Amino acid sequence: MVTTLHGTPVVPGLAYGPAQVTVSAVPEEAIRTYGDGGHADDVAALAAYDAAAAVVAEGFREKATTVDGATAGVLIASAGLATDRGLRGAVRKNLRAGEPLLTAVDRAVEQFVTVFTGMGGLMAERVTDLRDIRSRIIARLVGEPEPGVSMPTAPTILVAADLAPADTAGLDPALVIALVTERGGPTSHTAIIARQLGIPCVVGAAGVVAASAGRQLLVDGATGTIEVDPDPAASSARVAADASSRAALAEWEGPCRTADGHDVKLLANVADAASSAAAARGPVEGVGLFRTELSFLDRETEPSVEEQTLLYAEVLAPFARDGQHVVVRTLDAGSDKPIAFATHGDEENPALGVRGLRLSFTDQGLLDRQLDAVAAAAERTGTRTWVMAPMVATVDEARGFAAAVRSRGLEVGVMVEVPSAALLADRMLAEVDFLSIGTNDLTQYTMAADRMCSDLAHLTDPWQPAVLQLVALTAQAGQRAGKPVGVCGEAAADPLLACVLVGLGITSLSMAAAAVRPVGAQLATVTLDQCRKMADAALAAADPSAAREAARLVDTSGA
Ligand code: PEP
Ligand code: MG
Repeated sequence: MVTTLHGTPVVPGLAYGPAQVTVSAVPEEAIRTYGDGGHADDVAALAAYDAAAAVVAEGFREKATTVDGATAGVLIASAGLATDRGLRGAVRKNLRAGEPLLTAVDRAVEQFVTVFTGMGGLMAERVTDLRDIRSRIIARLVGEPEPGVSMPTAPTILVAADLAPADTAGLDPALVIALVTERGGPTSHTAIIARQLGIPCVVGAAGVVAASAGRQLLVDGATGTIEVDPDPAASSARVAADASSRAALAEWEGPCRTADGHDVKLLANVADAASSAAAARGPVEGVGLFRTELSFLDRETEPSVEEQTLLYAEVLAPFARDGQHVVVRTLDAGSDKPIAFATHGDEENPALGVRGLRLSFTDQGLLDRQLDAVAAAAERTGTRTWVMAPMVATVDEARGFAAAVRSRGLEVGVMVEVPSAALLADRMLAEVDFLSIGTNDLTQYTMAADRMCSDLAHLTDPWQPAVLQLVALTAQAGQRAGKPVGVCGEAAADPLLACVLVGLGITSLSMAAAAVRPVGAQLATVTLDQCRKMADAALAAADPSAAREAARLVDTSGA
């Protein structure tokens, strides 16, 4: 009997190979043997801590030189955290209180974890990094290798309870052929890395660590199933068939239309000049989401209008092309994206607090200066520029934002991330030129489930029928108004869900550039009528896995 485990499917594709279980803990035996460390006094113990932390930080810095972009930034930040003065101060205090070194480190990290968790959002996400740093420092102190992923020499499937950014940085997709974790949701760090690498990924797979050691796995990133020790010949045949259909996907060059000729705009999600230039080399018809706030995560003070103009112009320039446009999203600071110069730091519940457009309620100047910069960049580059606001909840907000954007000669839209915006889509569309559904937040707010909480991954799944209902309402409003309604959340990057979204009446899909070809190729195989049947089947399903199954059945039966 083959054991089959289930998780949340994140990146489609099949992989078959040996599991490499990554354990994030230092062996208990080594910790027992180390005992109190035998340090002469707390000064000597602190010196041992400093030496271990320095080695760990150096390891992060070295790894950062092997990767680029955002991943390198994350590793440099981890290096800083390992030798953080505040953390060191907490260790010293615990040592002075008479605690042995390992306990002092453990307690100091837990104190920081409590503080970070209390801050919520991105800071709370850093808790995984903090705990990772603790195990690395402890491993160095007790003379064990640092836990985490060691690069395999033959193709393997990486299995872990959870993966820290340091674990996934620099992974070689030729050697790591799939990722499976017990924790994490569809918008977790692991999911985002796997999507970039283009390897199958399943998250939230309970029990996979215990079941996988020394076993062969067949991972299906489309259905979220993991088969333990399946038939080798049959598995290899399924993987080969999947690989050849994926190779066909890689050839897809657009433009995107269904098998019966219904046009769908495929757009890219970008964060900066580099990702915009890379996206422009692929088969996309523009940018559907430029997340401006990601350029300012490390800024203490607001950049001047001129500095913002230069930055936006670099992102807009590659798309100064006929018939294309870039959708610039105004600052979505707050909650999971704290920006020092904008975020309200002392909120009880930041996801329901002053984030996105709400920042302009008390600081209209922040929005005005950003809109001035966007307008100037649009003029400089000649790129057709649309502007949209995140976190819009009322028609009044949409009206005020539309006036501010139109006074600068730009087209205006709002994001549908809050259920109220979906329910009032007709009235929103009376105020603006387009809507863009942010399914990541729409799912979070519809299901009342924190998108960062891995224990709730089954709720923060855009296949939830309630979320699809709100997408349907919004798309229908767009059809009545004759205005575009796109999706720019992670949902758009799922080829099967993309068919459902098109069937619901969505006119454009915006996603990470790496996801464009699989989505375009999948849409080319189905007719609009099939998409509609897939949408009906998904809407009628009881839960996300039934919705996936129902949509897949329509797809494969060609009904
Ligand atoms: C979304 O919420 O779906 C979205 C696209 O915005 P972000 O992921 O940046 O919050
Ligand atoms: Mg959002």
